[in-house]
Amino acid sequence: MKPTAARRRGTERVPLAILGGGMTGLAAGWASGLPVFEAEAAPGGICSSYYLRPGKPGRLNNPPGDGEAYRFEIGGGHWIFGGDPAVLRLIHRLAPAKKYERISSVFFPEQNLYVPYPLQNHLHCFGRELRSKALVEILTSPKPNFKTMADWLTQSFGPTLTAAFFGPFHELYTAGLWKSIAPQDPYKSPIDAGLVIRGASNSTPPIGYNTTFLYPLAGLNALAKGLARGCDVQFGKRAARIDADSKTATFQDGSEVKYESLISTLPLNHMIEMTGLKVKEPPDPYTSVLVLNIGGMRGEHCPPDHWLYVPASRAGFHRVGFYSNVDASFLPRSTRKSASRVSIYVERTYQGGQKPAPGEIRDYSQTTVRELQEWGYLGDAEALDPTWIDVAYTWSWPGSKWRAAALRALEKHDIQMVGRYARWTFQGIADSIRDGLYVGAANRIK
Ligand SMILES: Cc1cc2nc3c(=O)[nH]c(=O)nc-3n(C[C@H](O)[C@H](O)[C@H](O)COP(=O)(O)OP(=O)(O)OC[C@H]3O[C@@H](n4cnc5c(N)ncnc54)[C@H](O)[C@@H]3O)c2cc1C
Repeated sequence: MKPTAARRRGTERVPLAILGGGMTGLAAGWASGLPVFEAEAAPGGICSSYYLRPGKPGRLNNPPGDGEAYRFEIGGGHWIFGGDPAVLRLIHRLAPAKKYERISSVFFPEQNLYVPYPLQNHLHCFGRELRSKALVEILTSPKPNFKTMADWLTQSFGPTLTAAFFGPFHELYTAGLWKSIAPQDPYKSPIDAGLVIRGASNSTPPIGYNTTFLYPLAGLNALAKGLARGCDVQFGKRAARIDADSKTATFQDGSEVKYESLISTLPLNHMIEMTGLKVKEPPDPYTSVLVLNIGGMRGEHCPPDHWLYVPASRAGFHRVGFYSNVDASFLPRSTRKSASRVSIYVERTYQGGQKPAPGEIRDYSQTTVRELQEWGYLGDAEALDPTWIDVAYTWSWPGSKWRAAALRALEKHDIQMVGRYARWTFQGIADSIRDGLYVGAANRIK
């Protein structure tokens, strides 16, 4: 749909509108035909790719004609796990994708030890003492009785493995919240007693929710753009205020939309702030992530993994992923065959909204590069680009009723919340698309 003068400035009247053109909002727009209001100039939210030429600043939204650029993603490596078959069909239709088998380990830098993920099924990689203690503790764990994530981890994996990995890793991954938040997503660290026993002396097959994954041949942007082509997206529309009584959304550019009902994919805490609705319960916590994208010469000891979980690092990061180990198409075209380059994403967590100052981000970026060079993963870096993801992981206090109360308050005012951040839940791209399609179809205007 072409932008009209009323759309650009004045007040637009719509029966229904969608806020946010990430994967969820695009899927909702695609299924419903409703207008999507997106803050940025491009679709996809944190699931979008961009390009950087070696040694040159300035993000490109599209690959340059000569292919001489690194392809990075705003939110770090985004791999499509699981997914409903109907959603996977749609993904393949919009952006043909290739399937990959996960290669992932836990890396202990002090011991220079790599243990395949999930490490509880690979205890044979540890020395005899740790191995036998951990095995006994996992197999004789008491009947679970936990309140916090720390209780759950210690009771499930035992004190030995928690001290060696789960504790220090979750301290970094949750920015210190793991001792006070409720346990979440136990399926990410499954315990199968048979595999734990077998893994104490032999290797075991890969398990978990992400043993295989998809990635579009033309990059993740191809998927966001494919959805956006079937949508009426208005870019550069950042909602600043929502009057839930008069049902008016005001955007940063001063324009307004009067709606009868709103579908929002924006984070739940932001929607409560923007509407000013009162929720009695104390808000649940969240964590932000600083994603550092790096391209450069491949170090001699760069592992073959797609990503590594790191329980200790001097710079404070907890995960290092290797785009170019998944696919060489992430590298500048002329370097793809020689294996001379590597492209990396590094994630560091902060408590919600505590964004470091620009100078601190610069120092952190340099420290991280040096640490990866010391580990032998990287030579000279020729692309270095950080992105701050404000609401990256959502958590809840034990027994919290905030999420349900906040969703109810918005629903009462005809604001339907959909997607990972809107519903304050953990889910990946495929499930975000599924939920967007579902809510979009349910609200389709004939
Ligand atoms: C570090 C990290 C790694 C991840 N890795 C994976 C992975 O490997 N695989 C996977 O499947 N999933 C992964 N995810 C999850 C995945 O990113 C989410 O499932 C997905 O982004 C959810 O899409 P969304 O559209 O709901 O949210 P978003 O992508 O956050 O989209 C929200 C949209 O709303 C827009 N917006 C924000 N504020 C406003 C406003 N005021 N007005 C208008 N528009 C606004 C934003 O610009 C954005 O486009 C990861 C998440 C993180 C944080």
